[in-house]
Amino acid sequence: MKNIHALIDQNRERYIQDLIDIVSAPSIGTRPETVRNCAQVIVDKMAKLGIEAQIMETINNPVIFAEMKCKNPDAVTVLFYGHYDVQPADDLELWDSLPFQPEIRNGRIYGRGVADNKGQFLCHLLAMEAILKEHGELPVNIKIILDGEEEIGSKGLADFAAKNKELLKADLVYTSDGGSQRTDTPTVVFGVRGVMNFDLDLVTADIDNHSGNKGGVTRNPAWEMVKLLDKMIDENGRALIPGFYDAVLPMTEKDKELIDALQFDPERFAKDFGVQEIIAKDKYDYYDKLMFQPTLTLNGLRSGWTGDGCKNIIPKSATAKMEVRFAWKQDPDTIYKLIEDFVKEHNPRVTMKMVEDYMYPSRNLPDTPIFQPVIEAVEKAWNVKPIVCPITGGSLPDFIWTTIMEQPSIVVPYANPDEANHAPNENFLLDMFHQGVHTSAEVICALGKFK
Ligand SMILES: [Zn+2]
Repeated sequence: MKNIHALIDQNRERYIQDLIDIVSAPSIGTRPETVRNCAQVIVDKMAKLGIEAQIMETINNPVIFAEMKCKNPDAVTVLFYGHYDVQPADDLELWDSLPFQPEIRNGRIYGRGVADNKGQFLCHLLAMEAILKEHGELPVNIKIILDGEEEIGSKGLADFAAKNKELLKADLVYTSDGGSQRTDTPTVVFGVRGVMNFDLDLVTADIDNHSGNKGGVTRNPAWEMVKLLDKMIDENGRALIPGFYDAVLPMTEKDKELIDALQFDPERFAKDFGVQEIIAKDKYDYYDKLMFQPTLTLNGLRSGWTGDGCKNIIPKSATAKMEVRFAWKQDPDTIYKLIEDFVKEHNPRVTMKMVEDYMYPSRNLPDTPIFQPVIEAVEKAWNVKPIVCPITGGSLPDFIWTTIMEQPSIVVPYANPDEANHAPNENFLLDMFHQGVHTSAEVICALGKFK
């Protein structure tokens, strides 16, 4: 391992250039022509690293796939998942440098996709290159799948996986995406919550009406929407939709053990999040709410006049932008139907529609045997015990691996907590990028018991 780590250290500057090369090719999921061009740039880069990859079609954006077998017939197969599509970069004014011309400032590289997710999957590829250079072969079989539309729901990949189970079969799926909880300690995650976005709409007139001349004799969609929303949730933030919590599974003893090792400092968390307070009775309640409970969130409201001053109108319509974060083991279709029935019962004139596709929740049992060598390898690479989370509150298309493919999947985020993914000035701490390459190398070798 020593030689591999030394080789990785020697190549630090070149790795940064590799990252710049692939970030400079924009790949915005909703603009397929940019995605295809970027896919080719990445395939060419992989060829230079000694990894032969191909672009494969899905029902939507293409995926990039590569497979490298090792000589040992008993070796495990690891599938690295990453995504090469990125979030849009507007508003450009809010960026300190251009999003697709990466710039290095104060030990960080800035650009759209540097951390989410190009820089993170690149760590695996660079680790493979280093191992191949040192040993001439890999200690495990490796498959790589790079998604072209993670930022818009991964529908193409889900369909592709269902049709190509043999191709994507592996003993372990390893994903590096999102931010680590701290810059000095790695994080390991075994599951994610799912997500679904939907709109509630109510239209009661063709135009905004005069609130004096028509006031009292016409319906007000803003009030009606507020009254409906009020019925959906109690004062503690729990959804009042009948059946909403029926499929939710409580945390296990093993989950509790993992939570015992996590930090709980409500005052510091509040400060870090920029919120006035954290709503949780204690540590278990905090992590239960974040990991094992679903949420019904009102993301935004649109109706009538919201500018300064006043405008005496009765709005013609009202829209509530809403979201559910699914806990394991809620089913999105079932929950959608429950909410729809609830809305119909309380205000049949309100319409509900899904926005984009949903993601299922995903969960792996913490004591899955193949996780142990991975956690140990991550610890070895960092020289500190990782923060191990049974579930993370955010969402990833992890259900493709755990539910469609029925194979274990582990997430080890490599980015800094303040990576500003999806926001202006997205960045990746260069030390963490580099540490990611070391970590991937350590994990690959641990799984192959390479010394
Ligand atoms: Zn993202």
